[in-house]
Amino acid sequence: MTPIPDDYRHQGMRKQLVEELKRKRIGDLAVLAAINSVPRHLFIDDSAFLRLAYTDQAFPIACGQTISQPYTVAFQSQLLEVRKGDKVLEIGTGSGYQTAVLCALGAKVFSIERHKPLHMATKQRLERLGYRATLVFGDGYKGLPAHAPFDRIIITCGAPAVPELLPAQLKVGGILVVPVGPEGKQKMLKLVRSDSLTIEEQEHGAFSFVPMLSNKSAG
Ligand code: SAH
Repeated sequence: MTPIPDDYRHQGMRKQLVEELKRKRIGDLAVLAAINSVPRHLFIDDSAFLRLAYTDQAFPIACGQTISQPYTVAFQSQLLEVRKGDKVLEIGTGSGYQTAVLCALGAKVFSIERHKPLHMATKQRLERLGYRATLVFGDGYKGLPAHAPFDRIIITCGAPAVPELLPAQLKVGGILVVPVGPEGKQKMLKLVRSDSLTIEEQEHGAFSFVPMLSNKSAG
C-alpha cells in the first residue's frame, strides 16, 4: 500500500488553521489538538479543492453534500465537551472529518449517514487512515437504539426541529448538539439531559448547514 501523504507542508498549514481557530475564539485545547492531528486534506475528494483544505471553509463532497467548515467542526466539538472514552453518536457522517476529530478526542464513535455511496467511501477512508468508528447506513432521525444510551450526540446537518427520538437516547448528564432551523439558517442548540425527565436548552449562535432529511429510499 502506498504511504498516505501527510508531509511537513500539510502539518504547517494545519498549525496555521489552528492559530486561525484560536483567533476565532476556539479555546478548548483538546479540540485544537484534535484539529491539529487530523489530515483534513485526505477528506476532500475533489483535487481542485485540495490546495484549500486548510482554509476555514466548507467544500462540496459526493452526493451533493459538504465537508463542514473547520470552525464549525471545532465549535460543535467544543460544545459537546467530549471526555476520553465517551460513547458518541454522530448523525451525518459525510466525509468523516468530524468523525475523525471525535476519534482523536478519544471518543468511541458511532456515526450514521443516509447516502449509501458516501457511507461506503467514508468507511474505507477512515479504515485506511486508522480511525476506528462504527459507521452505519441509515436514518439519523431514528438514532441507534441498539447502542443507546450515549454520553454525547452531535448532529452535523440542519434539522427542522430537535429530532424527537434522540434526547431519550442520551444518558443522564449527556449532551446533544444540534443545528435547528430552515436550510442554510440554523441556530446551534446545546441540550443537556440534567435528569431523566429534564432537558435544558441553550442557544449558541447562527450557522449554515445542509438539511437533515428523512425517508431516503435508495442509496
Ligand atoms: N460531519 C460531516 C458533515 C457532512 S454534511 C463532515 O464533516 O463531512 C451532513 C451530512 O448529513 C450529509 O452527508 C448528509 O447526507 C447527512 N444527512 C442528512 N440527513 C441525514 C439523516 N436523516 N440521517 C443521517 N445522515 C443524514
